[in-house]
Amino acid sequence: MKDKIINVYGAGLAGCEAAWQAAQKGVSVRLFEMKPEKYTPAHHSSDFAELVCSNSLRSDSITNAVGLLKEEMLRMGSLIMEAAHETRVPAGSALAVDRKLFSSYITDKIKNHKNIEIVEAEVYNIDEDTVTVVATGPLTSDRMAEYIEKDLGCSGLHFFDAAAPIVDYSSINMDIAFFASRYDKGDADYINCPMTEEQYNRFYEALIGAKEAELKEFDRESQKDLTVFEGCMPVEVMAKRGHDTLLFGPLKPVGLIDKRVGKEAYAVVQLRKENKEGTMYNLVGFQTHLTFPEQKRVFSLIPGLENAQFLRYGVMHRNTYLNSPGLLSTVYSMNDRPNVFFAGQITGVEGYVESAGSGFVAGLNAARRVLGEDEIVFPPETMIGAMAHYVSRGGTGKFVPMNANFGIVEPLGYRVKGGKIAKYTVVAERSLGIIDGIKDKL
Ligand SMILES: Cc1cc2nc3c(=O)[nH]c(=O)nc-3n(C[C@H](O)[C@H](O)[C@H](O)COP(=O)(O)OP(=O)(O)OC[C@H]3O[C@@H](n4cnc5c(N)ncnc54)[C@H](O)[C@@H]3O)c2cc1C
Repeated sequence: MKDKIINVYGAGLAGCEAAWQAAQKGVSVRLFEMKPEKYTPAHHSSDFAELVCSNSLRSDSITNAVGLLKEEMLRMGSLIMEAAHETRVPAGSALAVDRKLFSSYITDKIKNHKNIEIVEAEVYNIDEDTVTVVATGPLTSDRMAEYIEKDLGCSGLHFFDAAAPIVDYSSINMDIAFFASRYDKGDADYINCPMTEEQYNRFYEALIGAKEAELKEFDRESQKDLTVFEGCMPVEVMAKRGHDTLLFGPLKPVGLIDKRVGKEAYAVVQLRKENKEGTMYNLVGFQTHLTFPEQKRVFSLIPGLENAQFLRYGVMHRNTYLNSPGLLSTVYSMNDRPNVFFAGQITGVEGYVESAGSGFVAGLNAARRVLGEDEIVFPPETMIGAMAHYVSRGGTGKFVPMNANFGIVEPLGYRVKGGKIAKYTVVAERSLGIIDGIKDKL
């Protein structure tokens, strides 16, 4: 084995976190990234750790599963969490970031770390004498995906994900739209576009009748086994489930009062700040697979967006992930090739924070392997550990990517009075106690 060097493939959320954790332990890291030479269909910037869809890293409360994961990572020195806090934009109780500042913060840190060397190249094989972390993401390039499937013997799966459009703030009609947060919680960070019943019906009919984009050859093949992940379901697919479905989802009006009229509307479309300056806003929950002209036509029916300028249209892409249970260990290394680690969405964790979390575990343990130190397996009582256990063992039935959630955490084994929040508070405190005990031994 080559001494004290690891390779990390992919400078996304997982790859950057993995490279950082290994480098911080004194290991030399070669970080391979195919940008700017080659881009996936969802990546556009030459910076690292690009957020390809929403700019939200979701809830900030430790009684929320992803909020707990973030707190665990923050306490252990996660680069991605540090960047998120440095570049956050107001978003009520969520942790949302200015995506440009976020990526450039991480890129600077990685490029200036004395133990990290950047190699701008597409990778498509692995030197198994060198400990390697593969973090090439849900849009891993075709050649690498083929290598993983055929040469490493991992059976890959594919499904679809979708991204929401972004509009220019100055083109939003604020005579109609209004600032407010649901139930007035926190600052009034969201722009809300209210609809009457008649306006909703017109929008709904247009949406369910709109033309979807053509699928690429590869995606058409994969569509035979089309699975739309619930957390990122295209708005038109959700709408087709029934007339009222959106009214209980992204167009939910409850708790959003336009002070000018003093009551709730029939439906409300929310827009969230996309950058610190507040010049760009994304349509919350409007991931979509409609053609660009159809997005313009249908979304311009939303009151307040009649003249909206679309800075980016929504897109829909392939998502590749491994059938990880039995294949990967609880530190994300291959059971039969311990020098090969995987990290990020490709392992079957789902989401930005979760991808970074798996990168943390994989990078730390890849470094420990070359240093001859014992593995650190995070216990299933912690959120970061529960995810690794889920990926390595699976749940019941077919393996599907999973967001952080309390259902995968080791149960307390006793009842807590006072409802869910009281229970999750106890689970979170147990977890953070464990993390505080581990963090100095990393
Ligand atoms: C369209 C889309 C929308 C999504 N929206 C959200 C969302 O809103 N919220 C959320 O929480 N999650 C979302 N996800 C899921 C997931 O959280 C993100 O994809 C996340 O970026 C995954 O992190 P990662 O590090 O695994 O991969 P990535 O961040 O994609 O990083 C992989 C990196 O590897 C590089 N790469 C790929 N192949 C090679 C190769 N062969 N050689 C060298 N480099 C290579 C890529 O250029 C990229 O920089 C979305 C996913 C997709 C595809």
